[in-house]
Amino acid sequence: MKTEIFLLKLGEIVLKGQNRFTFENKLKQNVRRRLRPFGDFRVYIVQSTVYVEPQSDDCDLDGAWDACGAVFGVASMCRCRSAEKNLDAIYDAIIDYLGDEIAASESFKVESKRSDKSFPLGSIQISQEIGGRIAEAYPHVRVDVHNPAYLVNVEIRDYAAYIHGPAVPGAGGLPTGVGGRAAVLLSGGIDSPVAGYMIAKRGVEIECVHFFSYPYTSLRAKEKVLELAHLMAKYTGRMTVDIVGFTEIQEAIRDNCPEEYFTIIMRRFMMRIAQKIALDHGCGCLVTGENLGQVASQTMQAMACTGAVVDLPMFHPLIGMDKEEIVRVARKIGTLDTSILPYEDCCTVFTPRHPKTKPVLAQVEAVEEKLDVDALIARALENTEKVQIRYENGE
Ligand code: ATP
Ligand code: MG
Repeated sequence: MKTEIFLLKLGEIVLKGQNRFTFENKLKQNVRRRLRPFGDFRVYIVQSTVYVEPQSDDCDLDGAWDACGAVFGVASMCRCRSAEKNLDAIYDAIIDYLGDEIAASESFKVESKRSDKSFPLGSIQISQEIGGRIAEAYPHVRVDVHNPAYLVNVEIRDYAAYIHGPAVPGAGGLPTGVGGRAAVLLSGGIDSPVAGYMIAKRGVEIECVHFFSYPYTSLRAKEKVLELAHLMAKYTGRMTVDIVGFTEIQEAIRDNCPEEYFTIIMRRFMMRIAQKIALDHGCGCLVTGENLGQVASQTMQAMACTGAVVDLPMFHPLIGMDKEEIVRVARKIGTLDTSILPYEDCCTVFTPRHPKTKPVLAQVEAVEEKLDVDALIARALENTEKVQIRYENGE
């Protein structure tokens, strides 16, 4: 079968010493699972490289390539043609597979790697020999070893030679599942999906918690959050979204607390409830999209008051980023367009005109005493809907 195969090069995993075996196995499982909707592929790891080989002609290679691009733990990816390990076969494969790209370029260079040390030529000799033949075949394309417009790669590996053009970056990070599990507080905004993606990139499985204040926030706002979770699942894998009925709590705060404390107390309820749900799912931390100084509830003092009600570590992957950087990631992972749909979030319900930006914990606690915190939380938890989200393409 004269088809393509993918080589996925491992990133940081390579550095992980004794854990490497576990990491590689996880990565292999994750790649296999993601590829299932695209046909029958053989997936194995040799020399810090995941080989993805289609086993039949009806595999969807473009779909599979796209899916591999969202698997954490892959540093770079190459779409290759394999050839027998001799110069004639390698050269023929290059002309057949990459000839059009070379012909359309101003200049080229051949870069060779030889991990099969029994191959009779060294990498420099391979590059010279193949480069010379290509230069003869395409006299209008210059050889430029310093700054080539097109890079032809030849890798002589154990079972075959692999030919490919420039490698493209993989999703980076660590394989999903090697770093525990996190509960992400997912709103409908731009920030929290990016926060979820960033924590997942560190090898962490995620579950999401969303606070929903019907009828102050609409069913379309809930659908939007589920759509965001669905888009994130392309990278994070399957997850549960716990949708917590938050209306009663928000009304109780509105009816019993001074207005400037509405947001901070609401956020303390969110954290307490999220922690209970997190523990139920076996999560070891809470994650939010908070970003220092962005809004009144994201000052150091406000975050200290919200953080005071939970024991689990809280991670805020966006804490030091600029909005433009966050937007860039949101665009890259495909959540931006959904995030900017104009449905309200419960944070914008009963928003105080002058929120406390430097709340003092003792005062917040005193204000909160008017509320039956435990009973409100218990009822909100009873009023929680669990929605299962799967990968974008099935599994
Ligand atoms: P985002 O863009 O993620 O909505 P934001 O800048 O609007 O963030 P806030 O609304 O103050 O900021 O929320 C800060 C964080 O609190 C969010 O990133 C999210 O993690 C969490 N959060 C806010 N609203 C909700 C909600 N309705 N359900 C779950 N988590 C929420
Ligand atoms: Mg928000």
